[in-house]
Amino acid sequence: MKVIQHSSETLRTALVSSSPDLVDLYNKYTKEEKRLLGEGLRPGQPGSLFQPITLLSDSDWISAHPEEPQDFQSFYRDPHRKIPSATHRTIYLQTIGSFGDSGVEADLYVDWLRDFCQAFYHGLPVQLLPPVSVSETRCSFRINSSSHNLQILTGDLLRFLKMRKPKDAFCIVGLTMIDLYPKDSWNFVFGQASLREGMGVFSFARYDDNFYSSSYAGRLRTRRALKPRDYSVFEGHYTPPITSTLLLRSCKTMTHELGHIFGITHCQWMDCVMQGSNHLEESDRRPLDFCPICLHKLQVSVGFKIAERYQALLRWIEDDHGQTSASRSAKPTEAFHSYGLWLRRCLDVLETH
Ligand SMILES: [Zn+2]
Ligand SMILES: [Zn+2]
Repeated sequence: MKVIQHSSETLRTALVSSSPDLVDLYNKYTKEEKRLLGEGLRPGQPGSLFQPITLLSDSDWISAHPEEPQDFQSFYRDPHRKIPSATHRTIYLQTIGSFGDSGVEADLYVDWLRDFCQAFYHGLPVQLLPPVSVSETRCSFRINSSSHNLQILTGDLLRFLKMRKPKDAFCIVGLTMIDLYPKDSWNFVFGQASLREGMGVFSFARYDDNFYSSSYAGRLRTRRALKPRDYSVFEGHYTPPITSTLLLRSCKTMTHELGHIFGITHCQWMDCVMQGSNHLEESDRRPLDFCPICLHKLQVSVGFKIAERYQALLRWIEDDHGQTSASRSAKPTEAFHSYGLWLRRCLDVLETH
């Protein structure tokens, strides 16, 4: 086990920078907002809201994929980063294929994802495009030779999304419960994005608790030969049960990948949703929200008040979506409990004068 602990001086430079225009930009925050962001200068100290990154094994992302760390200044000065504008500010979500056997629950699940995304990227509208079946995308697909589950080809989905992208889109993100592969020689991929084009596609298939077990229900039992373009194999195809853990993992992946579309690269400063992850255990370990350095990057792109964003996220957890109505299922937020407590602590810092 190894803890990556940066000095407060290093973290201050990564957060504020030493360039006068960026110091001025930082100084536009209120005293309370600066107090919250300043919590990021002492990760891991008693009572701190933020923790240093802990590496548990050589297969963790930072050990396996050395990358240049991105401080605020290098983010801000990147001439290619995408910034929402008055005419291109909507995040579009496109579901591909079934999201569950029970129609009502599947629809709600997608609504919950949309609402979470809208709270997380507070200030930008998030819209669901009408769902599409796998056959409508005309994508290639296969059965994985070791896990025996169905997989669809990411490049074909990105081509499809490019045609579907509305004119006022900041970006379009495809979401699916079917496993993905990027090319024949690869076993699988969690997702793939084209940052310049503002597009991405991500699968939640491997967030099923049973995915890696031999009893995984998404394995095709019969070794039927697939015919290209015969999409009947996707009819009634298995989708993971909708649980609180699946919802948490899906929200985490969706917001991490959207962070990349804003030009935020993998965080190496402290525990953060933008940390890279190599495997599910590492992804489960990372928190659901940004560290102060990544939060500052997002804030200058979108322009929200930090407290209003945390309040919107807390409302998403606490709004049970009509629990009293028999026709609607309650949102399973048990897995978000500790995140809710953390949001309250952040709001305490922001609301104490
Ligand atoms: Zn990433
Ligand atoms: Zn971060």
